[in-house]
Amino acid sequence: MALDIVRTQVGAAEICQIIELEIGQHLAWLLPDTTPDNIRAIEWLNTPYRNPDYSLNALSQCFIIKIRGRMLVVDTCIGNDKTVSEISEWDHLSTDFLEALERAGIDREQVTDVLCTHLHIDHVGWNTCLHEGKWLPTFPNAQYHFAREEYEHWLEEARREPQAMHSISLSESILPVVQAGLVNLIEAPADLGDGISILPTPGHTCSHIAVMIDTGNQQLIIAGDAFHHPCQIARPEWASIGDHDQLQSTTTREQLLLSCADTSTLIAGIHFSVPSFGRVVADEDGKYFFKPLPLK
Ligand SMILES: [Zn+2]
Repeated sequence: MALDIVRTQVGAAEICQIIELEIGQHLAWLLPDTTPDNIRAIEWLNTPYRNPDYSLNALSQCFIIKIRGRMLVVDTCIGNDKTVSEISEWDHLSTDFLEALERAGIDREQVTDVLCTHLHIDHVGWNTCLHEGKWLPTFPNAQYHFAREEYEHWLEEARREPQAMHSISLSESILPVVQAGLVNLIEAPADLGDGISILPTPGHTCSHIAVMIDTGNQQLIIAGDAFHHPCQIARPEWASIGDHDQLQSTTTREQLLLSCADTSTLIAGIHFSVPSFGRVVADEDGKYFFKPLPLK
């Protein structure tokens, strides 16, 4: 099946999303507060973010941004041929992601930067691809940016539990790009130049980061899994059972909402359905809602 490609232009930024899989059911499991009754109570939350029966819609996808001569890939999905022992639907996927890149006009040799907001399996998969039994960098000329503390955390976990799902993911999707000398370990906040900056957004993982892009006339934030779903804009306290620290992830969401509300800043979570970018608006009671950027 041909993967969907979505294109958006925001100021100087040309954005392309490649959609790998629908993962609404998995997110519902991670966010136990998202019962149909609770979702129905968020009046502005409509399709495509939920289904008619008030169950969640969500995507595994990556964002590719061309700006000022840079080509930045943010988060790299689940990937093909990866070992995902705990989620059978994600195990050893075989999608046409590489062909989708070509169809989208993206030459992977020209990608300058890859950034992983954190190192969970659904954010690092296409860092590498299998070639004659070896994991090779999918983007051989890019710098891969990871948060230093995040990388060290998963290295330590792999030492403790070498057979755990994320330890195997480390060896399939992270260590091959480290060994290829492509990794830049960053400490947030950081400035990557050309209007690309990194914000600390801890909570979902110990050193989760978000990327902010200055498009010339407005800011764009790709918040990774700081927000798993737009419902958390209304209910920032709905933390994920997968969060490293639920209180901290809630504080991160509240801070992001406060800084974006009623500004021109566009925000997207990696798993948001399309249209994934939108503005945060506060109503008279100080409650937040998501105003999606219409697709052209
Ligand atoms: Zn995720």
